[in-house]
Amino acid sequence: TFRIHIAALAGSGWRRAVLLTFEDLSEQRMTERMRVDFVANASHELRTPLASVLGFVETLQGPARNDAVARDRFLTIMREQGLRMARLVDDLLSLSRIELRAHLAPETPVDLASIAREILDSLVLMAREREVTLKLDAPQQPVTVAGDRDELLRLMENLVENAIKYGQRGGEVGITVAISGEEASLSVRDDGPGIAPEHLPRLTERFYRVDTAASREAGGTGLGLAIVKHIVLRHRGRLTIESVVGQGATFRAILPRLLEPTR
Ligand code: ADP
Repeated sequence: TFRIHIAALAGSGWRRAVLLTFEDLSEQRMTERMRVDFVANASHELRTPLASVLGFVETLQGPARNDAVARDRFLTIMREQGLRMARLVDDLLSLSRIELRAHLAPETPVDLASIAREILDSLVLMAREREVTLKLDAPQQPVTVAGDRDELLRLMENLVENAIKYGQRGGEVGITVAISGEEASLSVRDDGPGIAPEHLPRLTERFYRVDTAASREAGGTGLGLAIVKHIVLRHRGRLTIESVVGQGATFRAILPRLLEPTR
């Protein structure tokens, strides 16, 4: 289905220039559909921990009123559920902020190698908990892109956190920063179970998870890769995901380099 917009531009009579714009309504309907699904999913994701918190409050006011052991246990669960809601709201806000700025190309010079080093340092403890070794491979010289530093840190953090969470316990996570012609790339590789091919195309959709229980268990919101995709798009780059089941996965963000002005 198309809607046609007609605008007269210049001239008169038969020599009038006319601009015809075709608008694809099926695509518009798809976008609308996605928006409705998104709101439904987000509400459902919030509703679940909220129901759990309210349930425990009721139990604590009623049957478990004088049970000190139950109180401690329930309060711990309520805190966890509260934190889960907070993470979800934070991720939803991040996503909408990035989307709002989608049309503004970020333009501060950012060195991807320094981003990688910073994230590596901040995730050492998380990696140690899963006995994962982090390895960085980056060139000596800076790998500069026109970017938004906070967003690139976020992109890197989400990919490395996923590799630690879903990779193999006791395994290795490799982070590579590289230059290839006019592009720079940032790859994160793990040696976990990998991702079956049927999931790959949908992995960056909001709230899409391969294993919902495992994601929740690991504290995931289901928005990490959607955030990654939007950051890459705003930086005019692309994201590739390669995986062989049983042999891990590699996520790679490829961004245009900020080239030295030639004299
Ligand atoms: P989550 O908050 O669930 O981690 P993400 O958007 O970051 O959400 O990831 C979506 C899903 O993709 C995860 O739930 C997980 O099933 C899968 N996934 C992401 N990274 C990896 C990886 N490195 N190895 C295997 N599966 C992964």
